Amino acid sequence: MPAQYASLIKKAAADCKAGLSAPLFAAQLQQESGFDPKAESPAGAQGIAQFMPATWYGENGNKGAGVDGNKDGKKDPLDPEDAIPAQGKMMCKLLTTAKKHPGYNGSPTELALAGYNAGWRRVEKYRGVPPKSFSNGETYNYVKTIMALVPKMTASMGTGSAWVRPVDGPLGTPYHQRGGAWSSGMHTGIDFTVPTGTPIKAAGPGTVQKAAQGGAYGNEVVIRHSDGTYSQYAHLSKISVSAGRHVKGGQKIGLSGATGNASGPHLHFEIRTGPEYGSDIDPAAFLRKHGVKL
Ligand SMILES: [Zn+2]
Repeated sequence: MPAQYASLIKKAAADCKAGLSAPLFAAQLQQESGFDPKAESPAGAQGIAQFMPATWYGENGNKGAGVDGNKDGKKDPLDPEDAIPAQGKMMCKLLTTAKKHPGYNGSPTELALAGYNAGWRRVEKYRGVPPKSFSNGETYNYVKTIMALVPKMTASMGTGSAWVRPVDGPLGTPYHQRGGAWSSGMHTGIDFTVPTGTPIKAAGPGTVQKAAQGGAYGNEVVIRHSDGTYSQYAHLSKISVSAGRHVKGGQKIGLSGATGNASGPHLHFEIRTGPEYGSDIDPAAFLRKHGVKL
C-alpha cells in the first residue's frame, strides 16, 4: 500500500467510533481504485474512493458526502486528503447502522461494504449481503474480494498491526470443551499451558478496555480491537497496562499466573464480539484467520 495514504487511512479509521478497521478500509480503496487518486470509472465515479458526483456533491436537496479534509477551502473527490476521510465517514455511518441488525446475513463489516456498494436499502431488502443473483454478483463479489484482501493490507500497514500468539507456550484445554468446572458448562476460550511469570502479549493492536481483578478470571485484561472484537487474557499474576491505553500486537500486557478460579498456572484466552463474558467466539479459528500459527 502506498505509504502516503497509510496515515490518512489510519486517521479515518481512528475517527470512527463504530470500529472501522484501517486494513479493511485500505482493502476497500485498493478494490475501488487501486489507490489511484485520478481514477475515473466508465460510470463517472471519481478519485481514490470512487465517489459518484451526485454522492459527493449531493442532489435533490440531499447533502453530499464530500468533505474538505485538508481545509484548503475545496471539497475535491480527486484529492485523497478529502476523499479518504469522506469515505471513512460514510463507512463509519454504514457500520453503525449495520451493527443494529445482528439478524442480517453477514458480519457488520460485510453489511457495511455491501451498503457502500449497493446502497443500504438493498441490504435491508435482502436482510444481508445481496446474493449472487443481485446485479450479476457485483455486490456479492465486491464484499468477498475486499474481505480476502484484508490480511494482505494488515501485513503492509506497518509493525504492530499484525496479530501474534498471545503467549509462547503450548495449547491446553480447547474451545468449547465440556465440563462442570465452567459456569456455562463449556470452556469459553482456549488455554495456553505456561508457568507463572511468562510474558503475555496483546494478540493484536487495540485499546485496553479493562485491566483489573475480574472475579473467577482473576487478574484480567480485555482489549478492544478495531474490527469491534475483544480479546481477553485471564488468571494473570501481574497486569502491566491500564484501561484506555493503546497497545500494538505483540506488546507485553502482563505476566501469566493462576489468579481467580484456576486449577494451575495457565493463560485463559478468549475472543469476544462484546466486552463481557458470554459473547465468545472460537479464538483459535480467529487467530488463524489473522495469520497466527497455533
Ligand atoms: Zn480457560
